Amino acid sequence: MPDGRDPVPSSPTENANSGRSETALSGPTEKCGVVGVSLTERDAARPLYYSLYALQHRGQESAGIVTHDGFQQHDHVEMGLVGDAFTEDDIESLRGSAGIGHVRYPTAGSVDKSCAQPFTVSFRSGALGLSHNGNLVNADEVRDELAAEGHAFTSDGDTEVIAHDLARNLLEEDLVRAVKRTMGRIHGSYSLTIMQDDTVLGVRDPEGNRPLCIGELDDGYVVASESAAIDTLDGELVRDVRPGELVVLQPDGEGFDSYQLFEREHTAHCFFEHVYFARPDSVIDGKLVYEVRRDLGRELWAESGIDTDVVMPVPDSGRAFASGYADAAQDDGASVEFAEGLMKNRYVGRTFIMPTQDERERAVRLKLNPIKSTVEGKTVTLVDDSIVRGTTSTQLVQLLKDCGAAEVHMRIGAPPIAAPCYMGINMATREELIAADRSTEEIRDEIEADSLGYLSPDAVAAALGEDRDDLCMGCVTGEYPYDIDGEEMDPAHADNPRPEL
Ligand code: AMP
Repeated sequence: MPDGRDPVPSSPTENANSGRSETALSGPTEKCGVVGVSLTERDAARPLYYSLYALQHRGQESAGIVTHDGFQQHDHVEMGLVGDAFTEDDIESLRGSAGIGHVRYPTAGSVDKSCAQPFTVSFRSGALGLSHNGNLVNADEVRDELAAEGHAFTSDGDTEVIAHDLARNLLEEDLVRAVKRTMGRIHGSYSLTIMQDDTVLGVRDPEGNRPLCIGELDDGYVVASESAAIDTLDGELVRDVRPGELVVLQPDGEGFDSYQLFEREHTAHCFFEHVYFARPDSVIDGKLVYEVRRDLGRELWAESGIDTDVVMPVPDSGRAFASGYADAAQDDGASVEFAEGLMKNRYVGRTFIMPTQDERERAVRLKLNPIKSTVEGKTVTLVDDSIVRGTTSTQLVQLLKDCGAAEVHMRIGAPPIAAPCYMGINMATREELIAADRSTEEIRDEIEADSLGYLSPDAVAAALGEDRDDLCMGCVTGEYPYDIDGEEMDPAHADNPRPEL
């Protein structure tokens, strides 16, 4: 470029205005929910608050909202659940029609408010707020470089690194070029909502690892991790934010501008969002999660179906899989009957991240109790979405046998999880993963099931309607779409090298 600046279109590649027509590992893992709202008629705080409620499943450790009233930022960030983090007065105090919000995923170990979000920073040309879902793999490198330039950091989180880098670039570039420059320096997964003064942006990493979508409200627009947040606001899903796209919500609430800043040969959508993490009523990358899970259940029957007296889900995660499995079985003439054989106590939370194995085992028992009449004397197929450490399946097989089940067959709606996730899902370490160094038969033996069937990666891709090369299956294959120290890179993503800083 003659002026040495990034080649960014001076006007948006796309623009959507009123109506639906579009014209023109380091730090803690961040498996979170993000939202941004720009309105004309009213303050953004309340819709943000409701959106965070809708995204609560994506993070229960902390919740926060930052708004801008045209003159200054207002923020409230608190540890805990959304319902506990905000009082009516807090919401009233968050003035302004633009804002972003965040819920943070709990991780094992210390719970630290310095990592709660949105992260805010004031710099010479304005105020920035950032909410991040994902995980950078080169945050340390970028942080070291910025620290050498005099940037002072208050947390070890990735989000602060992105915020400082963007603040620095904004001193030299316009908003779109500054975002592009930051995206060219950070490596890893990120869905971001950003507020620069009262302008709200949505950004999705070039591989589209984490979800992000755009919704239209009566008096403005919203970007959110999942469409369930848009539904909660009585809005309409416009579409997903595309991998590598920057979306700028127009402050007049009339529409949004779209800039396609990066394009890759392959996306790296996280398959585990569809399998476990996202709400079943969300539409991600054009697919309703509930239907994907039912299709995964159907594939599971096709690949490893077994005709037992009953098929029952591990609630709630296995429910849609088990119903798809049972339908496919019945379509094939099998006599297996769908039954609810386990009752879930909804008031036991956070079992997965409990620090000791003992506590995790006790928690499974606290959380789930069998319904004797559906189990006693029956051959049972138990369906869950995934096995990670093997705690849940080991406990449940035992529980059902103690309750009088004649046989317990385990069917899993995902392939074996054999490697860690560096992209933000709390998946335990290789040493803890039951499938890291065991065959399916060895796992079956360990969990003491009568049989065990996982889904193949190809069946997952088929159910998601995606090419396997467009999915991130690092936790299954140990090959990642990002360049991670000490790990193999998925050859399909060779055009995604770690940036030279
Ligand atoms: P585990 O008991 O360690 O084998 O974990 C498997 C169970 O935890 C399944 O019932 C899953 O639905 C659930 N699960 C899987 N991944 C996660 C995660 N990242 N966070 C919380 N729960 C999970």
